[in-house]
Amino acid sequence: MKIDILTLFPDMCYAVLNESIIGRAKKKGAIDFECHNIRDYSLDRLRRVDDAPYGGGRGMILQAQPIFDCFEAVCNKNGVRPHLIYMTPQGKVLTQKRALELSKMSHIAILCGHYEGVDERVIEEIVDEEISIGDYVLTGGELPALVLADAVARLVPGVLSDSECFEQESHFEELLEHPQYTRPAVWRGREVPEVLLSGHHAKIEEWRRQQALERTKIRRPDLYERHVKGEKE
Ligand code: SAM
Repeated sequence: MKIDILTLFPDMCYAVLNESIIGRAKKKGAIDFECHNIRDYSLDRLRRVDDAPYGGGRGMILQAQPIFDCFEAVCNKNGVRPHLIYMTPQGKVLTQKRALELSKMSHIAILCGHYEGVDERVIEEIVDEEISIGDYVLTGGELPALVLADAVARLVPGVLSDSECFEQESHFEELLEHPQYTRPAVWRGREVPEVLLSGHHAKIEEWRRQQALERTKIRRPDLYERHVKGEKE
């Protein structure tokens, strides 16, 4: 899978994507990503990409033309038109389900806004989907794009060691994950639950399932309701 990111801060994106699990996955060819500087497509002598909002008001707006040309260059370079997602607090809030669906696409592109946002006409012209990472506002789309890229990339086959890694995680079946423990067996007087030391795999699985259900019911009754409903269907 390939992820292209359209941004004013490509180095900020590379700094994150080249690290850790995603960075290693890129090196072994399980995933590819490329960051494109929208400013490179400015037609302005001073490489400006923003201007004041029509109708007045605070802040600046990213202009349509450099974004459009940047996306066109991405399409031409790859010989395909990737599914383009604009990160915006006005989009649908990201879920694990949507991340899994996106991980099955062969190519996506992510547009990062900045300042007060993006000229609406370029959204209408080229954007396929708008995604938010939550009901709060950040200064730019880079952190949201990186959240999305990470959430999607780790679900691509070959990025994690095997799919069980995420199939047992929080949000996979509308459930939160069971609590986890590692060595030592006793820490500051707190003991690891005995069943986890028993070596009895069926009992351990049962305990984990029970813990996941209880934890979800207490912490996220909304998810729990959906999980129970899903099981009945
Ligand atoms: N004026 C815009 C509004 O009220 O909807 C917010 C603009 S925000 C300051 C600048 C950019 O940050 C946005 O264009 C978007 O790309 C990104 N952004 C901020 N918060 C976000 C969120 N919760 N989810 C996704 N993107 C976000």
